[in-house]
Amino acid sequence: MNILLVEDETEIGSLVSDGLVAEGFSVDYCEDGDAGMEHATTKSYDAVVLDIMLPGKSGLEILKKLREGQNNVPVIIITARGESEDRIEGLNLGADDYLPKPFFVEELVARLRAIWRRSSDSGMSLLSVGTLTANMMSREVKRSGTSVEMTPKEFSLLTFLMRSPGRVLTRSQILEQVWGYHFDPGTNLVDVYIRRLRTKIDTDGEIPLIGTLRGVGYRMVDPDNPEPSKEG
Ligand code: CA
Repeated sequence: MNILLVEDETEIGSLVSDGLVAEGFSVDYCEDGDAGMEHATTKSYDAVVLDIMLPGKSGLEILKKLREGQNNVPVIIITARGESEDRIEGLNLGADDYLPKPFFVEELVARLRAIWRRSSDSGMSLLSVGTLTANMMSREVKRSGTSVEMTPKEFSLLTFLMRSPGRVLTRSQILEQVWGYHFDPGTNLVDVYIRRLRTKIDTDGEIPLIGTLRGVGYRMVDPDNPEPSKEG
């Protein structure tokens, strides 16, 4: 899940960002309102977490712009003490929830999951490819009905692949989406995680679902259409 976090207090921002990453989220973190506006309006996110008082554009301006553009991405505003009027304005402008500072990252994670639970019907929250299913809410993965234990990173990687069955995803796309790296760290991180996923998912007797395109990347095999699609 892709989160945009806009917060100008570096200490809070890095804490929240690290906390979300540890929970398996992929985070774009902006420290001012202009960068936040740019990201919010040009990229696609599963949720946006907005501080209100920011250098440049305010959180409320970003929210207003999103809603004016018919962008219904879930938005949580984070408010400082004494900003109760902004909080009310934020909710009026179409924020889905708010969190007063200080807060625990766990609280934010719980709110994010609650929002997705409300906004997505059960069909959208369950990904399935062949006999493999991943529930985005409970984060439970099953192969032929048997539960499979996943770490947060493994879950992110698996669901990233599951969202586009048949499509080859390059190592750099995976590194960026799952680990938030915008560069190649020159390790075999992706390959190591793919191996772990295969051990867990493609067990004996099951059709192997994680395909390799040598030198390019990996894909989730679409069992209804097992040939890789040409698009990258
Ligand atoms: Ca602030």
